[in-house]
Amino acid sequence: MAVPKRKTSPSRRNMRRSHHALSPTPFQECPNCGELKQPHHLCGGCGHYNGREVVEIQA
Ligand SMILES: [Zn+2]
Repeated sequence: MAVPKRKTSPSRRNMRRSHHALSPTPFQECPNCGELKQPHHLCGGCGHYNGREVVEIQA
């Protein structure tokens, strides 16, 4: 079994993890109702996607 020759130092480990941060979720306004929604996701306010109603919202 392959085994690392050297222990990874805390500095090296933290440098590796410097790219692991999550970026905040982007939001766009729904073109139908103006509510904020995620791009490429169904609008939770009106159930529209790509210019047509996909899911009916029970009021
Ligand atoms: Zn909408």
